[in-house]
Amino acid sequence: MNDTPKQETPFYDAVIMMIDDEPLVMDVLQTCLEEHNYRFFIKIEDSTSAVDAIFNERPDVVLLDLNMPNVDGFAILKALRENPETKFLSVIVLTSSNDSNTKLKALELGATDFLAKPVDRSELVLRIKNTLTVKAYQDQLAYYDTLTQLPNRKLFLDRLDWAIKCATRENGQVAVLNIAIDRFQQVNELLGTQAGDELLVEVSRRLLKSLRETDTISRGGPEAAWRNIARLSGDEFSILLTDLKSGGQIVAIAERLRTGLRDPFHIRQREIYITVSIGIALFPKDADTTDTLMKHAGAATAYAKEKGRDCYQFFSAEINAVAQQRMNVEHSLRRVLERNELDLYYQPKICAASGEVKGAEALLRWRHPQRGFIPPYEFIPVAEDSGMIIPIGEWVLRRACEQNVQWQQNGLRNLSMSVNVSAQQFRDNRFPAIVQKVLSDTGMDPELLILEITEGVLMGDRDRVGDLLFKIKTIGALLSIDDFGTGYSSLSYLKTFPIDELKIDRSFIIDTPADEDSAAIVRTIVAMARSLDLQVVAEGVEEEAQLQFLRELCCDQIQGYYFAKPMPAPEFELFCQQRALQHKKSGANRA
Ligand code: C2E
Ligand code: MG
Ligand code: MG
Repeated sequence: MNDTPKQETPFYDAVIMMIDDEPLVMDVLQTCLEEHNYRFFIKIEDSTSAVDAIFNERPDVVLLDLNMPNVDGFAILKALRENPETKFLSVIVLTSSNDSNTKLKALELGATDFLAKPVDRSELVLRIKNTLTVKAYQDQLAYYDTLTQLPNRKLFLDRLDWAIKCATRENGQVAVLNIAIDRFQQVNELLGTQAGDELLVEVSRRLLKSLRETDTISRGGPEAAWRNIARLSGDEFSILLTDLKSGGQIVAIAERLRTGLRDPFHIRQREIYITVSIGIALFPKDADTTDTLMKHAGAATAYAKEKGRDCYQFFSAEINAVAQQRMNVEHSLRRVLERNELDLYYQPKICAASGEVKGAEALLRWRHPQRGFIPPYEFIPVAEDSGMIIPIGEWVLRRACEQNVQWQQNGLRNLSMSVNVSAQQFRDNRFPAIVQKVLSDTGMDPELLILEITEGVLMGDRDRVGDLLFKIKTIGALLSIDDFGTGYSSLSYLKTFPIDELKIDRSFIIDTPADEDSAAIVRTIVAMARSLDLQVVAEGVEEEAQLQFLRELCCDQIQGYYFAKPMPAPEFELFCQQRALQHKKSGANRA
């Protein structure tokens, strides 16, 4: 069987509704259309029930008589056009009147086309065909994803809505499976977006194939699978399951979908392995509206991702609480800047050999009016997902630079300022211009600014990343790799890109020097940094033994609780003054 998604045949499967107070007229119309292979008809004689019937049956086209007792065609047309769900429904009006005023009125009310009574057979067939062709074209644009040809979010929501209505009537169940490709962004970054698009098309084919092989779906015929799947956005697909008998069925389908994606994809001569995280929500158990059901399925997917990806997850009260918490954080995060709730703490970076304070790392702190202190690991990922990290990051940069200038003026000369830059900020093309502007607005010496990025940021389009890094170098700021050793294995970027500093991740320092493996890794990183002429900083130093070990290796700088925790600006200034005094004293003693 061909797995390429194809469009529904619009014409002969079309549902044609006729609304006319004369049953005979409708019989004639039906006979004529049946001769042209149309199969699905709904005949409404009582015009008072017409609008309800349209909402329940959702015809593709309506043949509407204008002259009817009680509720006439005009009133029906008006009601349809006023409702967003039927605003664009194709309605061909039938009128025995040749009166141009009647036609004009129907046109004003939004009639799609006209047919004069008595109806000419060939004209009827032609008008129906034309109307359905236009509808099919409009549907294609409005309801299908151009890349995979699958139904889009709009159509999916429409079908889900419909499925929920049916399930409510029949006491049935509906399940939504929300499928997200794990680490899809990496494929885009490593191979480019076109390759990413090719992968999405292949994934949609495999999902369809797996769906066709499942009992629940295959009973509905070959088109059913295609009707039940949609691409919602980016790397996100959704599947709608109705007619469910047991939870076991859903698990079996989720497993089949995962298995179907297990073999490698061949994209641009490369083998790509992917996994997916699937979130599942059920009607009526988890939610009773389309919106909530979709939201809960999405929350379950996010939870599956956090749990380590490559799994499926049913929605639960616990997931709801996590999602709620995240939403609350996101909600209050939107106002964080205008409410002035952010603050920077500073942690000293200390010269391993002399003990002098060389610089500060600015670390973000959020004081929530109700919840109190919220740690960065809880809100920075949310700020990244919601895009809020861009304005927040700019605020951090500006505040840190202002503080540095202030300290220089207060006599803390040549103190560097390290600022963490998130991947999103860095990928934003405006980033170098923002750095430039902040430096010139605050008057900070560019060479004292160290921008900390993580290894992941450097992956992807080498030319683009290189271009950005060189722009930053031209401005004069320095670049540091934060959490070094926890990211990707390829180190070639250290040669190609203009990096100035490596910060060895705390996880390697924690077990040194006792643990031989950690000690060996730290030794290697320091030696490598030496030979590449990079500054090397050890993060998270808490103990004397760690400090001694790092001093022996000639690690340049130390940062960690051993010397000081991150602290507010005034305390940091005091800390620097005390250390400078100690340093002077110990120098005098030596002399
Ligand atoms: P990071 O940049 O690697 O910062 C070092 C983190 O390690 C800080 O945590 C610091 O308080 C902690 N730390 C330093 N020395 C020690 C030690 O001896 N022992 C232990 N246990 N921890 C130590 P913090 O302030 O909670 O920040 C966590 C992470 O949040 C940062 O890791 C950074 O990735 C991110 N972050 C903080 N501020 C910003 C910011 O302004 N922008 C962005 N994008 N990320 C930020
Ligand atoms: Mg950092
Ligand atoms: Mg770090």
